[in-house]
Amino acid sequence: MQIPPDLSERLFLDQAKDFSYVIRAISMVGLNTLALIFLDFHDNPGVFWRNIILLLTAAVYVVIILRGQTWLRRSDTSGRDAAQYFRQVSAVLVALGLLWGVLLVLLMAHGSPNQRSLIYAVAVGCIATPVLVSPPSCAISYWAPTSLGAMISLMLYDADPYAMTDLIAFVALTGFCILYLNRRMNERAIGAIRLEENAEVIRLLLRDFEESASDWLWETNAQLEMQPVSQRLVQVARRPAESFHGVFPEVLLGEEALRAAQPGSAAARLQHAIAEHSPFRDLVIPVNIEGELRYWSLTGKPILDKNGRFGGYHGVGSDITGQRRQQEHISFLARHDSLTKLANRMLFSEVLHQCCEKAGTTGFALLCLDLDNFKIINDTLGHATGDAVLVAVAERLKGSIREFDIASRLGGDEFAIIVVTSERSEAQAIAGRIVERIMRPFRFDGQFVQIGISIGIAMAPQDGTTPTQLMKCADLALYRAKNDGRGIVRIYDPEMDEAMQARRSLQAALRQALPRGELFVSYQPIVDLMDNRITGAEALVRWEHPKHGIIPPSQFIPLAEESGLIEDIGTFVLHSACSAAASWPLDITVAVNLSPLQSRDPQIVDTITNILASTGLPASRLELEVVESTILEAGSPTEEALKQLRGHGVRIALDDFGTGYSSLSYLRSFPFGKLKIDRSFIRDIGYEKAGSSIILAIIGLAESMNMLVTAEGVENVEQAELLRSYGCAQAQGFLFHQPMSAEDFAQLLDSQASGGNVASAPHSPAF
Ligand code: C2E
Ligand code: CA
Ligand code: CA
Repeated sequence: MQIPPDLSERLFLDQAKDFSYVIRAISMVGLNTLALIFLDFHDNPGVFWRNIILLLTAAVYVVIILRGQTWLRRSDTSGRDAAQYFRQVSAVLVALGLLWGVLLVLLMAHGSPNQRSLIYAVAVGCIATPVLVSPPSCAISYWAPTSLGAMISLMLYDADPYAMTDLIAFVALTGFCILYLNRRMNERAIGAIRLEENAEVIRLLLRDFEESASDWLWETNAQLEMQPVSQRLVQVARRPAESFHGVFPEVLLGEEALRAAQPGSAAARLQHAIAEHSPFRDLVIPVNIEGELRYWSLTGKPILDKNGRFGGYHGVGSDITGQRRQQEHISFLARHDSLTKLANRMLFSEVLHQCCEKAGTTGFALLCLDLDNFKIINDTLGHATGDAVLVAVAERLKGSIREFDIASRLGGDEFAIIVVTSERSEAQAIAGRIVERIMRPFRFDGQFVQIGISIGIAMAPQDGTTPTQLMKCADLALYRAKNDGRGIVRIYDPEMDEAMQARRSLQAALRQALPRGELFVSYQPIVDLMDNRITGAEALVRWEHPKHGIIPPSQFIPLAEESGLIEDIGTFVLHSACSAAASWPLDITVAVNLSPLQSRDPQIVDTITNILASTGLPASRLELEVVESTILEAGSPTEEALKQLRGHGVRIALDDFGTGYSSLSYLRSFPFGKLKIDRSFIRDIGYEKAGSSIILAIIGLAESMNMLVTAEGVENVEQAELLRSYGCAQAQGFLFHQPMSAEDFAQLLDSQASGGNVASAPHSPAF
């Protein structure tokens, strides 16, 4: 048998000890047998040699006893010493075996038939005793010569074939037993050593376990009474060990924690497992420790006795409050927006899914919200203020909904809210309240900031029962709210779907419009208010759709911006306007609208200078109209491009002034050549004092900064008169001229060049 190297030493030492005891006992019996033989055979012949051999044999026994004795007394023995001990004793045992062999032959030679029976019994005893001895090398050392002696004695003096056969069989049996039993004994010894070692390891681990972290072991008896608890549990539970006398789990967790257990909760599952005497694992139970809520994780296994009867539980427990809080924090972070602390997109979509599942019984409204012009705040006031606005908006959103509604930030300046109601009117009222509250100015660092919000609403289950359907509907409604002027609430209507379809097909048609020559440019004259003479014209793009007729730019320019067509269209307008202006009889300016997207094109300066060069129009006759959102990022590539163009002599006009985010600071930082007062101010002129004073302020400001001013949308004589009295230099509007074709405009200029009264000219057909 192969003995594992790590065990051989231990095994050897154990064997040597056992061997010493056994061999000592055998030697005593051996000495006793020698004495019997001496007494029984003293009359027999051959006394001299027999007594010599008896004496020698007895001496060998004594040697063996003494050697065993010294071995047992030694304490500093090693495996190697044991091996040496076995070798020595083996040699002595060979001698002992030989002596016994010779003795048996001598005794047989001179023994009477009665005595021979005794000798036979002694021989059998001698052959059998090595079976008790381990290791086999020692056993064989003695067994082999004795067996040989016994067989020779039988053969020489009592050649009874039956006795002989029996002896041979017995010798074979004992030989087999020596080898077989030794092997089994070794196996058992190894198993025992391993078991002992494992037990030691487990003892160490358990001690380590008890001493570490906040884990503890617990145990109950068959009546589920808690067995004495560990010191660790006493510490964790912050109560004395005596307080744990009682029935598990009540005495451990407190009756309160278990009574309040919800079906399906860990506490309920624990009670269920215990009632069934089944195992349970990692059940996390909230417990109250001196008024503090903590979480314990419990694992338990039933103890079964030999007959499979329940004998109690044993298990481990640990206080996982720290881990749990950390997990809660992480899962909060994963499910909430770090800036506003509102639910994030992930959590919101989970809640929306749940709401959709119950939509059949509990209707709800999905609100999609989008801040108006948030980008402008971010760009002009900086990201820190932008963030502060988002946080403040989130606060106001939370304050505008009920505790069972849920608000979330989906990203950027997009928010969504689930309002638990099946009433459209209630959803609309809440949305209206939100718009009104968000509109109130925020104050940051002594500075007032105002922002609007647009809201689209979809109702479940009427408008949809899946998150995708509802989001689509609410988005469509939001899109409509934005288009209808921002700061508005719109509720989804199936007509919005059709409108979206129509937009899509219009977008597809727009792609073809330019190559098919469906786009053209109209010109609206700009007049000098002092003498009504034309001082310039604004180029306005038109699309003549083969089926729908003329489509206004307010409809297709946003489509072009969305689909990336705006750059091609813009270049087309610039080219048309510049080549038209180059052919005009008067050196007046042509104004071209520049979309914010177009002005972000890194090629824009090259494009415009190339167009000016190819059409031969001097840069000073081109005016570019930009809106406030185009210019807001100081130091941006757009601002750089506009400055370069201005350097070439192109005038930059600020269009629709007063409608965007009215921070006047950029008027100072960017040198505009002209301000165009939006027509919403002109419309109210004369009726509203505030409107008039704003116009007066704008005109004063423009004058002080050396900018021209054009009033847009002048539709009646009163407006023109008032503007004139305010000192506004230029005007544009239906009172003077509608936008007209390039040819009509050229004719108009011709008549002005030849001295005609152009301002009161009959209106040409409108484009
Ligand atoms: P806008 O730049 O403010 O252009 C002036 C708009 O006011 C024009 O509308 C014009 O027809 C209209 N208008 C002129 N006088 C009056 C008036 O007395 N009363 C009223 N109610 N309206 C008047 P239009 O041509 O429909 O253009 C709308 C907007 O489309 C423009 O507003 C401009 O922002 C954009 N747009 C037009 N052409 C282009 C273009 O070529 N490129 C870009 N990017 N945008 C363009
Ligand atoms: Ca314009
Ligand atoms: Ca305008």
